[in-house]
Amino acid sequence: MSVSYWNDRVVQSKEKVEVDIVVIGGGIAGHSAAYWLQKEDPSLRIALVEKHHLGDGATGRNAGFITCGSVEHFNRLVDTHGVDKAKEIWSFSEKNLQLLKEHIIKDNPDSTHFEEKGSFSLASENGEFKELQKTANLMSSLGIEVELVNEGQVRSRLGAEGFVGGIKYCDDASVNPIKLLQKIRNEMKGATNVSFYEHNEVYSIDSDGDQRIVKTNKAHFHTSLVILATNGYSKNLNSYFKDKIFPTRGQILITEPIAPFMEGPCYANFVLDYFRQLPTGELIIGGFRQLQKDVEVGLSDEITDVIQVALEEFLQKHLPACKEKKITHRWSGVMGFSADGQPMVGALPSDNQIYFLGGFTAHGLGLAFNTGKTLTDLIYGREVPGFITAKRWN
Ligand SMILES: Cc1cc2nc3c(=O)[nH]c(=O)nc-3n(C[C@H](O)[C@H](O)[C@H](O)COP(=O)(O)OP(=O)(O)OC[C@H]3O[C@@H](n4cnc5c(N)ncnc54)[C@H](O)[C@@H]3O)c2cc1C
Repeated sequence: MSVSYWNDRVVQSKEKVEVDIVVIGGGIAGHSAAYWLQKEDPSLRIALVEKHHLGDGATGRNAGFITCGSVEHFNRLVDTHGVDKAKEIWSFSEKNLQLLKEHIIKDNPDSTHFEEKGSFSLASENGEFKELQKTANLMSSLGIEVELVNEGQVRSRLGAEGFVGGIKYCDDASVNPIKLLQKIRNEMKGATNVSFYEHNEVYSIDSDGDQRIVKTNKAHFHTSLVILATNGYSKNLNSYFKDKIFPTRGQILITEPIAPFMEGPCYANFVLDYFRQLPTGELIIGGFRQLQKDVEVGLSDEITDVIQVALEEFLQKHLPACKEKKITHRWSGVMGFSADGQPMVGALPSDNQIYFLGGFTAHGLGLAFNTGKTLTDLIYGREVPGFITAKRWN
């Protein structure tokens, strides 16, 4: 968003809000950062500022998988980083789920439609299945619970045709992402110092000595610390992110409810495509970005025929239970892909009063809650893992 001189003058006469921290972005990252910061110091006055409504970004548009690891099979993570670092990356996401359960889900999983059914990665050809077998061996040797499933088991347990086998990651989970955000806010209710400002689009962050002035279309926030939790949109607020977080579109559709037929959520085709049955019966499926790589970039949330048709064809080909089922909704969202697939926390090199977290590369639910905690560690001078700090780019 850019704002003219004339309109800036209009806003200047509007509300002035004085706080200690402004968090920009009302998705899982912004909520997580606010949650851990108020936990660290309940006296902090925190304003969470969102340009539309809370959860309007990728968080409220995703498929609800809470998966461990990253966007590629574990054997590839090991090839790229070595065993120790790959294990560290995996453990970070395991911790993310553990923290969500301990602090947010607690003893009321139904309130967020939280389910712990594990997740499956399915191979449609032998080459990928071989990689999954390698992954299973590596992970078992590291004490991570996985199970290899053959073609018949994929059919009987998941109702899926046309796969030669797969792997089950036993510890994964799923959730309704909008209900998860609401629950995080509920958990912060005791913290009367956290306020939410929807429909406030930040168009600049100015300096006035030690103060930062976060300007939106409705108010000016005076603060000493700013957190950018704007993920795919970050480069619009600071050019630092131009070569670090890339806006990437993901498309999705959902059917009418179907009688339960799947043991758990599934990925296919090297984690590019994904589908799961909601507790209420609907089948949600997304992916096929690979068909239009050049189109599926940028900040537009349109849907395209090519990808929507591919999603429907997948249902017809692989999931007999979905044949003839009505599709009720189609949508897309803008994700933030980092240059190396790992999330990042840090402070801007040009301004150490502006921190950020982002780059979740299609795995924000599996990473952002622990990333919010990690950002708080960084702000309070505690050590953070090397793979997640933005210093890795320096
Ligand atoms: C179709 C799809 C399916 C996905 N499926 C999964 C999945 O199953 N599991 C999973 O883990 N991940 C999934 N993802 C990715 C996941 O949604 C993201 O990684 C995660 O939501 C990122 O959270 P975030 O808070 O960083 O970003 P966002 O949720 O995008 O939040 C950023 C917020 O910043 C706001 N904002 C931007 N600019 C400004 C500004 N100038 N002023 C004020 N506010 C601003 C935006 O409006 C937005 O609400 C999926 C994504 C999509 C699109």
